[in-house]
Amino acid sequence: MNHDHDIVQLTRQFLRINTTNPPGNEEEAVLFLEAILKKEGIGSTVFSPSSGRANIMARIEGKRKGKPVILLSHIDVVPASLDEWEHDPFGGELVDGFVYGRGAIDMKTQAVCQLLAFIEYGKCGVTPQRDIIFLATCDEEVGGKYGVEYMLKKVPQLRNASFVLSEGGFIKESQGFSHAQVSVAEKKLSRFALKATGTGGHGSVPHKDSANEKIIKACARIISYEWPIRPTAVSSAYLHGIFKGEKKKGYTFKSIEEALKNKRFREALEAVPLYNAQLKNTVTPTILKGGERINVIPTQSSAHFDARLLPIQKRESFFRKIEKLAGRDVRVVREDESISEPTPSGYDNRYFRGMSAVIKTTERYDLAVLPYITTGATDLRYFRDLGITAYGFFPVTLSDDEILRMHGKNERISVENIHRGLSGVYEIVKFLGSQDAP
Ligand SMILES: [Zn+2]
Repeated sequence: MNHDHDIVQLTRQFLRINTTNPPGNEEEAVLFLEAILKKEGIGSTVFSPSSGRANIMARIEGKRKGKPVILLSHIDVVPASLDEWEHDPFGGELVDGFVYGRGAIDMKTQAVCQLLAFIEYGKCGVTPQRDIIFLATCDEEVGGKYGVEYMLKKVPQLRNASFVLSEGGFIKESQGFSHAQVSVAEKKLSRFALKATGTGGHGSVPHKDSANEKIIKACARIISYEWPIRPTAVSSAYLHGIFKGEKKKGYTFKSIEEALKNKRFREALEAVPLYNAQLKNTVTPTILKGGERINVIPTQSSAHFDARLLPIQKRESFFRKIEKLAGRDVRVVREDESISEPTPSGYDNRYFRGMSAVIKTTERYDLAVLPYITTGATDLRYFRDLGITAYGFFPVTLSDDEILRMHGKNERISVENIHRGLSGVYEIVKFLGSQDAP
């Protein structure tokens, strides 16, 4: 594609706008995107759900009304602590071929690539089959209430989309094997807390009604419980694509069902946190609170858990199990703000086949393109809740190390990836524009 914008400079400028959420303050970032569209003569609408917060939407009209394709991105980021980073997380610094900044991977670079691909497609003279909507929203990192949730109420056309493209998948390079993971599903967020109350007292006179002891015992039962391996269609297809023909601990992988019967292979899979999380519910204690002074028995104690359920796991039966494990001495308090039950998107369809073909053409013909379950939660769940086919994919190649930097320290993206991301997104947008809605 022939583009007039310097994508690397734009990415660096965009990363300099601090949209740490909370509080978000995405308005400045929205005005930045609006100005780029304006310069191209493309109209857009800014939506302001509350002071300082904003979403932006622009449209290329298609041949037929209804069932638009949405290019979705969020423009808020998670906090970054300056002292842990080697480079200013909001400096947009370019060092040794990498642009550093909070949001470099999650997902400001993708937002800029989607914007420029959208602009370029609008200028190429082809009218898409259906409207193509560029939508950049706020508030994803804390649940999307002011972002996608708000926009779905404000703009009914969005609820009627035929397809949504956003974050969650990349081309992943790991141990010499690269494959494209296209996220078609995500695990279900199910946060909860255990709370205990007890009798206070002096640490020198212990008694049986200790809030801390109740919490510790309940936590021990929960964390030592082994959640069963439950391969889903998506995780089976994914792991099959990765391990086909591979030998591990003396066993050669034929199928996921066979491999899981082999204890050593199963243990090797479980030992890799990312594969483990594809196959099981995960229940992770993240915050422990109880007591202020070493010689005082506190009257209250709590533990918070970040639980992520497989798409096939029913929330109610999960909580029945948690209640049982927690026991009678503590209370289980659910902490989810928005409860969603997103159905995984299908991948035996023209969108998956079409995107695979585009990815193979732009990358390599023999690259494996595999459906994938995102272990975190994204705004795509709002669309999947509505039964809309929604994929997470950004055509850049990332190593395990680079993926771990997202939400971590020294998040960065290579200049090469920025260019590849833009041309890859453009090819995907061209494909999506050619598709009539099913
Ligand atoms: Zn994100």
